[in-house]
Amino acid sequence: MANIDMHTHSTASDGVNSPAQNVRLAAEKGLGGLAVTDHDTVSGVSEALGEAASHSNFLCIPGIEISTLDNGHDIHVLGYFIDHENAEFLSKLEELRTVRNKRNEKIVKNLQELGISITMEEVTAKRKSSSGNIGRPHIAEVLMEKGIISSLREAFDKYLGKGKLAYAITERISPAEGVKIILDAGGVPVLAHPGLYDQDELIPQLKEHGLAGLEAYHSDHSAEQEVHYRNLAERYQLIPTGGSDYHGVRNGKVFHGDLGNRYSDLITVEKLKSLSIKYR
Ligand code: AMP
Ligand code: ZN
Ligand code: FE
Ligand code: FE
Repeated sequence: MANIDMHTHSTASDGVNSPAQNVRLAAEKGLGGLAVTDHDTVSGVSEALGEAASHSNFLCIPGIEISTLDNGHDIHVLGYFIDHENAEFLSKLEELRTVRNKRNEKIVKNLQELGISITMEEVTAKRKSSSGNIGRPHIAEVLMEKGIISSLREAFDKYLGKGKLAYAITERISPAEGVKIILDAGGVPVLAHPGLYDQDELIPQLKEHGLAGLEAYHSDHSAEQEVHYRNLAERYQLIPTGGSDYHGVRNGKVFHGDLGNRYSDLITVEKLKSLSIKYR
């Protein structure tokens, strides 16, 4: 059965490959499809759809990963089969981009105050597409290039991860608002990598707001976590999904997991699709 990687990043945010490259790579690996889920943007979706059209039997799902904040925790909400051309949705995303840029500036300022010479211009130059959103992996790349850290993991462990030296948060929408934005765009909301939050009480709360699925299978989940979230999905009648969170290869290493190392089957994807307004 065709496997579909439900969580991938491209140059539209902090991935390394263009949307079309990700589609080609997935097709070469024999995957049945992928979802384009860039952080707070759908600017990579049309390119991926265009490329997917020239591969037979390859499903490209228009998606997004929305950044939200709950009790000081960064919570990510995935959205699938969204109307990526919806004007209201696009203007909401524009607001999220403004907040993201403020957050990035705060992190850079924190690094400067730690005595590190780094500018927003240097970080911006790490974008791989001029319309792409900037994220912490871009900041990590600059730190790496300057020899301040010796691996991207170290950048997060020391400076950029939650509660670390240069970590910053700004006002952000709540996970429930993230769910609503996706529903309003005709899409299907799924809670991303719940194993990274230790906030399981969020799951039934978001279900009340219309959450449809739970990303039980993710590159950063342990085998025990995958079983745990598979069971929670069943308990709360959520669709369990799987995705690699592929970001491409940075400094010779696959960031998070390799494309296709986690996936959903076609039956799961069809269930999600049946809940979408535009694609059902
Ligand atoms: P941002 O959207 O700018 O907050 O950056 C989020 C991205 O940073 C995630 O998609 C991950 O790729 C990466 N990231 C966040 N926390 C960590 C961590 N602790 N270790 C490695 N990468 C991380
Ligand atoms: Zn990312
Ligand atoms: Fe995420
Ligand atoms: Fe992601």
